[in-house]
Amino acid sequence: MVSIRRNILLGRDIDLSDNSSERWKTMAMVAIGQGKMFTRPLAAVMHIFVYVGFILINMEVLEILIDGVFGTHRIFASPLGIIYDGAMAFFEILAFLVIVACVVFLFRRYIVKVKRFSGFEMRAFPVKDATTILFVEIVLMSCLLLLNAVDKNLQNLQAEHYIQAGTFPISSFIVPMFSHMSVDSLEMIERIAWWGHIIGILLFMNYLPYSKHFHIIMAFPNTYYSNLNAKGKLNNMESVTTEVKLMMDPSAQPPEGYQAPTSFGVKDVTDLTWKNLMDAYTCTECGRCTSVCPANTTGKLLSPRKIMMDTRDRLEEVGANIDKNKTFVDDNKNLHDYISEQELWACTTCQACVQICPVNINPMEIIVEMRRFKVMEQSSAPQELNSMFTNIENNGAPWQMAQSARFDWSQE
Ligand code: SF4
Ligand code: SF4
Repeated sequence: MVSIRRNILLGRDIDLSDNSSERWKTMAMVAIGQGKMFTRPLAAVMHIFVYVGFILINMEVLEILIDGVFGTHRIFASPLGIIYDGAMAFFEILAFLVIVACVVFLFRRYIVKVKRFSGFEMRAFPVKDATTILFVEIVLMSCLLLLNAVDKNLQNLQAEHYIQAGTFPISSFIVPMFSHMSVDSLEMIERIAWWGHIIGILLFMNYLPYSKHFHIIMAFPNTYYSNLNAKGKLNNMESVTTEVKLMMDPSAQPPEGYQAPTSFGVKDVTDLTWKNLMDAYTCTECGRCTSVCPANTTGKLLSPRKIMMDTRDRLEEVGANIDKNKTFVDDNKNLHDYISEQELWACTTCQACVQICPVNINPMEIIVEMRRFKVMEQSSAPQELNSMFTNIENNGAPWQMAQSARFDWSQE
C-alpha cells in the first residue's frame, strides 16, 4: 500500500481540497450509499450483500481473533447477553447472503456470460482475479458457518470450554451432520474452520493491493476527490491560456512564479494528475463504462475500462523501475505504447463512461490529455482534424472557404 501511495503521488499536483462538505456528501452517496450502483438493480442488491457482509462480519472476526490469541471462547457473549445472540444470527444470515451473491456473480460471469465481463482487456490476470475473489469469499463465509455448526454441537455436548452462546439460524441446518461425532473430532473440525477463516482473511488482506478488489478501500478517497464540476466541462489548459494571453497583450505580465511549459498534454503517467492515477487504482474492472461507450458499442477499438487498466499497468511498470533503480531510469516507453491512437481518436467525449462509473472515475480525461499531447507535441491528428485545424488557422472557421465568402449564401 505504501508503494501504491508513492505511485499515485508520482502524478502532477492538483488542488482538490475545496468544498469539503460537498465532497463528504459525494463520498457518502457514492461510496457508502452505493448510489450509482442502482442503475443495474440486481447487481446492486447482490453487491450490497457482499459489501455489508464484508464490513459487518469483521466484528465477528474481531471476537474470533481475540479468542484465538487469549484462549477464551466467545468472549463477547457474556458482556453483550441477548444482543450477542441477535448479532450472531444477523452475521449468519449475512454470511449466507454473501455466499448467494457470490454464486450469482459466478453464474453471471460463467453461465449467463454478461457481455461487459469480457473484452480484449479481460484476459489472464483480470479474469483469474475476479474468480479468485468470489471463491475466497465463498470459502471464508463457509468456514464461518462450519465453525458455528461445530461449535453448536460442542455446546450441545456440554464440552468443556464451549459456553452456551449464540443463535445460529443458518448453520443450525448443518448441525445434525456432525451430531454423531466425538468431542475430539468436533474440536479438530472447529480448529480447521477457525484457521481456514483466519488464514483466508490474512491472505486476502495481503492479496488486496494487487487486486481490483482494492476498490473496497480506494472507493472512499476516490469519491471524496471526485470532480465536482459540471460533467460537460472540459478543463482548459492553463499553460496554453497563459501563453496566448501573453502573446496577445505585450504589456501583460506572467503570473508570479510562472514558468513556460516544457510540454503539453500527457505523454506518460507522470504527466497525469494524482487523481487520474488514483482513479486507475480504484477501477473495479466492472466494465459498465465500456458497456455504455458509444465508440465501443459501434465496434471501435476503444474501451474506457482498458484505458484505466493500461494506465495502472504502466504506472506499476514505472513504480517497479523506481524500486529497482532508486530513481526512474528512462525505459524508452510511455503511456502511448499502451493506448493506441486509434483508441484515443475513437472517443466522442460524450462522458457516458464518467456518468456511469460507480466509483466516479474519469477515463475520458486521460483520453483528452493524451490527445492534447498528440496534437500539440507531435502535430499528429487524424486527417479530418488536420484539415479543420488548417482551416481555422487560415480562415478563422472550420470550413474550407475564405472569410470574405461567408455571406455568399445570402446572395440568392
Ligand atoms: S472505470 Fe468505472 S465503470 Fe469503468 S470499469 Fe472501472 S470502475 Fe467500472
Ligand atoms: S467519453 Fe469517450 S470513452 Fe467515455 S463513453 Fe464517451 S466515447 Fe466512450
